[in-house]
Amino acid sequence: MNVQNLMAELERKHPGESEYLQAVREVLESIEEVYNQHPEFEKAKIVERIVEPDRIFTFRVTWVDDKGEVQTNLGYRVQFNSAIGPYKGGLRFHKAVNPSMLKFLGFEQTFKNALTTLPMGGAKGGSDFDPVGKSDAEIMRFCQAFMTELWNNIGVDTDVPAGDVGVGGREIGFLNGMYQKLARKYHTGVLTGKGMTWGGSILRPEATGFGALYFVQHMLQMAGKKLEGATVAISGFGNVAWGAAKKATELGAKVIAISGPDGVIYNPNGMTDEKIDYMLELRASNRNIVAPFAEKFKDATFTPGKKAWSIKCDIALPCAFQNELNGDDAAELLKNGTWCCAEVSNMGCTPEAIHAFQKAGILFAPGKAVNAGGVATSGLEMTQNCMHLSWSGKEVDERLHTIMASIHEACVEFGKQPNGYIDYVKGANIAGFMKVARAMLEQGII
Ligand code: GLU
Repeated sequence: MNVQNLMAELERKHPGESEYLQAVREVLESIEEVYNQHPEFEKAKIVERIVEPDRIFTFRVTWVDDKGEVQTNLGYRVQFNSAIGPYKGGLRFHKAVNPSMLKFLGFEQTFKNALTTLPMGGAKGGSDFDPVGKSDAEIMRFCQAFMTELWNNIGVDTDVPAGDVGVGGREIGFLNGMYQKLARKYHTGVLTGKGMTWGGSILRPEATGFGALYFVQHMLQMAGKKLEGATVAISGFGNVAWGAAKKATELGAKVIAISGPDGVIYNPNGMTDEKIDYMLELRASNRNIVAPFAEKFKDATFTPGKKAWSIKCDIALPCAFQNELNGDDAAELLKNGTWCCAEVSNMGCTPEAIHAFQKAGILFAPGKAVNAGGVATSGLEMTQNCMHLSWSGKEVDERLHTIMASIHEACVEFGKQPNGYIDYVKGANIAGFMKVARAMLEQGII
């Protein structure tokens, strides 16, 4: 394999798909050396096959808003790779959703899911529907219209969607209701992230954030550092940021910043239960602003237009969107003494930011390892659904712990450099890639 040639070919085939090309380049650069030691991969053209999704469904979603006006959005499902199990991955509702974004997410999901140790292939889907400012009734009508097109292409053993940005428990409920009505199938395992009374798993809402903090604990332990007393800056205030803030606080760290598209909250005294619960209210309001946090809690201040990375912190946790932490942000964090950055969002850091962190020798880990606890717990939800039972919180948490520990171990195994530095990007990419590549090889040319 030659990364430059492969990338040139992909750029020609998929011009302008910047997020997708960025995600592919990162993985190919990481695996090049190992790949070239395996002529059997080259012979089966594994890399040429693994970078393309198996198929993409694109559909029109038409619905009626509260004013009685007809609205039309685009819907997608990218079924990326099924070599190790049925397609699995979230749905993203955001105004910027396009095929490039969902292809990057589906590609990442394939390797992330491989890291979880569970049998799940990679997929992603969503719509350019913008939930900001929408009423619950509008969200319901949109979800129903979206499922009218999607239902025939998903199923317990084929493709199991879940949430992502803009899709949480409320949306999964509306989607599942419509699925059952259309498909006349009532298995609880067609979607994950369900409510607790209709097949959901305890801890699934918390799992992405909790798993991320378990991963960070392992990283810190290995580096001889501690979470207790560390200051943490988190971007975002949605489901993932909420879980991360909750677990970080529980483990003795001080969450001193959260943020939104409108600006940053500086929270010098850290989180309380009330503050953490309020993050959920903020998300449910559909306004997509974080400023009200400082109106409600007087010890916090809001600065418009600033990012979480403007706050001096020990640990930075991007929890919102891709490329939300760029080279300039990394330089500011490093100047302020940050010694760990763990991506909780998918591809939260730009390549320049990752390079800056690694060059400075600070701890850095990529989203596909750090945030894999979310989809891993979706996998545990699927298992419970298939067994027609539900596990206790303790049982799910223990399994999540074990999975995050094994992901960390895999990253160390494949990412340890001769000078002792652990390149978690390389480690996660090689470990995930090797598993999927071997599965493809053993199943022939298809
Ligand atoms: N959207 C989440 C992710 O990026 C969760 C996917 C799932 O649970 O299937 O991994």
